[in-house]
Amino acid sequence: MTQARTLYDRLWDDHLVVERPDEPALVYIDLHLVHEVTSPQAFEGLRRRGLLVRRPNRTVATIDHAIPTHDRSLPIADRVAAGQIEQLKRNCTDFGVPLHGPGSGRQGIVHVIGPELGLTQPGMTVVCGDSHTATHGAFGALAFGIGTSEVEMVLATQCLLQRRSKNQRVEVTGRLRDGVTAKDLILALIARIGVDGGAGTVLEYTGSAVRALDMEARMTVCNMSIEAGARAGMIAPDDTTFQYLHGRPFAPSGRAWDEALERWRTLVTDDGASFDRSVEIDGDAIEPMITFGTNPAQAIAIGGRVPSPTDVPAADREALTKALAYMGIEPARPILGHPVQTVFIGSCTNGRLSDLRAAASVLRGRKVHPGVRTLVVPGSEDVGRAAEAEGLADIFRTAGAEWRAPGCSMCIAMNGDEVRPGETAVSTSNRNFEGRQGRGSRTLLASPLTAAAAAVTGAVADPRTFA
Ligand code: SF4
Repeated sequence: MTQARTLYDRLWDDHLVVERPDEPALVYIDLHLVHEVTSPQAFEGLRRRGLLVRRPNRTVATIDHAIPTHDRSLPIADRVAAGQIEQLKRNCTDFGVPLHGPGSGRQGIVHVIGPELGLTQPGMTVVCGDSHTATHGAFGALAFGIGTSEVEMVLATQCLLQRRSKNQRVEVTGRLRDGVTAKDLILALIARIGVDGGAGTVLEYTGSAVRALDMEARMTVCNMSIEAGARAGMIAPDDTTFQYLHGRPFAPSGRAWDEALERWRTLVTDDGASFDRSVEIDGDAIEPMITFGTNPAQAIAIGGRVPSPTDVPAADREALTKALAYMGIEPARPILGHPVQTVFIGSCTNGRLSDLRAAASVLRGRKVHPGVRTLVVPGSEDVGRAAEAEGLADIFRTAGAEWRAPGCSMCIAMNGDEVRPGETAVSTSNRNFEGRQGRGSRTLLASPLTAAAAAVTGAVADPRTFA
């Protein structure tokens, strides 16, 4: 009798090329996503060694991190960004890698276009030189970020050296209440287990609250697995997954679809499989969440009080004091009403159509507070087109928000979109480290609903009061 396996163990075994004791294993990679910032040195390495890309048809490139999101007809002023973009175009031509560049109709953030084009499929191994590759785990894929030298290795061999991770189950029971989103779920988890709560493990999200999420919400959850220190996050595929994929440009079709479906339905954790760690969360009890500090675990329910250094274990006191000083946030006070000068709605965490619909539901018929600069940035050209077609873009413009072209934008602040020094931003992105959104920027991570509520009020607000 074969041993009961988790979904992660199953995918690991399926992709194993060689595994020897005390050495990293060699794992086959099904899909390699490439962008302009972490690939130039890797392609240069191939040229130096006289190597080709091993599987160009398993490699897909886009331009997202460095590309400005304002008027695309203008030349790119930043010479470094312009150089990275031109270099990727050249590399893709030279090495035969398909590129979904600006104006192709398919350009966008790498973790948005992979799924929406149907490139990301259940059971795959997916890598990219970006930490938030875990997003693709929402499809029951094993997906993780890699470094530049690893990008070169995968380009050259379609394989990667990896150590096997442990298994951690995250069971979310019940159902999320109205006004509570996938972003709140993942922030609640990270607040509970900490930024190293997932260290050494791959998280498998299970439970009724997870099953009830649509694919875009599942991507939001898996996207931030890395912020809990996990190697990856995944959700076993089900009918929600299959319905999402059906008919997408690179999804199998006809007989190949039926065969794929048969295979995908087997991608589950076996009954009786054991997890090294487990955590259970009551989905009914999750509130809208917001961060107050400089890591994603420093998060509280929107109606809560910011902790005081005396509330936390001695080992955490200094970090909390430093974080609050950087953020300009008073301890032991409610976070509601804290002034906000910038709102960013976008990123690979929350830049999809359902996220824009959520933000528009708050902004419809309302105006952005005069003191708040609000950027709404679709995750891809496809998302942007759909948002234009259903009137969401008009809602944002009429409300006084800036409606931009797709890209990473203010998530990473390397493309001209930055939070100004000393300003506080409510951001739907995934990282709130010091300076992440620009030098001296102060980031409060939250859902699109909460971000839109802050845009209207000019302060942290409970999105449920806008229902
Ligand atoms: S949106 Fe942010 S986290 Fe996502 S791929 Fe771009 S820079 Fe990375």
